[in-house]
Amino acid sequence: MRSRSGSASTDRARSLLRYLTPDAIVERVEDISTELLAEWGVRGVVLDLDNTIVPWNTSDVAPGVRAWVIGLRDARIGVCVLTNNYTRRASSVARLLDIPIIKAAFKPSPMAFRSALARMSIDAEEGAVVGDQLYTDILGGKLVGMRAVLVNPLSTREFVTTRFVRWLERPFRARLPKPGESR
Ligand SMILES: [Mg+2]
Repeated sequence: MRSRSGSASTDRARSLLRYLTPDAIVERVEDISTELLAEWGVRGVVLDLDNTIVPWNTSDVAPGVRAWVIGLRDARIGVCVLTNNYTRRASSVARLLDIPIIKAAFKPSPMAFRSALARMSIDAEEGAVVGDQLYTDILGGKLVGMRAVLVNPLSTREFVTTRFVRWLERPFRARLPKPGESR
């Protein structure tokens, strides 16, 4: 009996791990090629805001990030920003990049991910989430059945609550390969 309950909890741990395991890990968004997305059959990208496309609490879109977004558009890959942030700054970043945004998303709640997919008129298996946090971006995307790409956070500055979540992420992060390593 003990071994049976033991294996059930191992199975649960494994399936949780599956939801927290990105399909790719890169240093920054520019490292995600349109070729890789095409290979996955991805037609739309759900993009995190803070520490993924701009350093936390800034509107500083780097030229490389802007060029990457334009590259996606040229490859006819849709883009939608999905953020738990709700400020005017968030909207101004999306406007700067000329892409739609869904704010106050309550990630990892699947509802907003589905709204973002609907905004791009694609199914979950045609979508990829790109973000810097396992418990919001990656988990939310995986829960709805999307591909998921983890990026390194653009800055070390962030909300104190986010810092706490990062601490919770540590055991899972430790199991993941470094950017550029294959799984
Ligand atoms: Mg983020």
